[in-house]
Amino acid sequence: RGALGGKVALVTGGSRGIGAGIAIALAAEGAAVVVTYAKSADRAEAVVAEITSRGGAASAVRADSADVEEAVGTVDRAVAEFGGLDILVNNAGGGRLDPLDVATRDEIQWILDVNVRATILVTKQALLHLPRGGRIINIGSINADRMPVPGGSAYSLSKGAIAGFTRGLARELGPRGITVNNIQPGPVDTELNSSTGPLATAMFQHLALDRFGTVEEVGALAVFLAGPQADFITGSSISIDGGFGA
Ligand code: NDP
Repeated sequence: RGALGGKVALVTGGSRGIGAGIAIALAAEGAAVVVTYAKSADRAEAVVAEITSRGGAASAVRADSADVEEAVGTVDRAVAEFGGLDILVNNAGGGRLDPLDVATRDEIQWILDVNVRATILVTKQALLHLPRGGRIINIGSINADRMPVPGGSAYSLSKGAIAGFTRGLARELGPRGITVNNIQPGPVDTELNSSTGPLATAMFQHLALDRFGTVEEVGALAVFLAGPQADFITGSSISIDGGFGA
């Protein structure tokens, strides 16, 4: 039993990237973890297999966060499977960095639906179950505070919304002993933002450190926020960005 032994966590978008890193890190501390995914069933099952091969408990649920009923339903699936819900990680998200006059209405709608609407509605459903000591961890972005390249207006709007949501909800849930925090990653090496991809040169120009972050580093921060040592941290947006926002 680690620091999160006996806890149940739901991580949206846990088949790849940051969500997979967080799921594996939470499980390593003893949490039973449900990951959701939209498309990558094999990758989600690989995350589950990695966790169970180390003696942990995990399962994967296909649920497109752009679909409200599918997304909200994952909360009840997690509760039914593991008997409760203690930690919600709203991670599923992304979006293309297209200038507003190029971005399609569908692209913009997707960003709003997945990054914002799913976060608030899955959280609302989770409130039916989260006990005292419960944790809500949103994955925002340093782009809420700093967007140094063109093309990120809709994306940074969505992540700014998450920072505001985090502050507002912390006020509501404080009396219930539930904390709400917002991890704001800078460039983290994933398929969304590869350290060798087309945007990498621009990213390196704005990093203070000379590298991208890793999903393991974001996972470690999520474990800290989920654990008892972070009991007095709520309403905070915490950057893990290699100085990108400095
Ligand atoms: P990836 O694209 O590497 O992984 C995204 C994950 O989310 C996958 O597991 C994917 O599942 C899932 N996902 C995507 N769309 C949906 C959907 N509609 N419904 C359910 N699941 C979905 O992204 P990252 O890991 O890089 O990003 C994760 C989060 O971190 C996002 O919110 C992103 O905005 C944020 N972030 C990332 C940064 C970075 O540099 N990487 C920096 C700052 C913030 P599937 O494969 O099945 O589609």
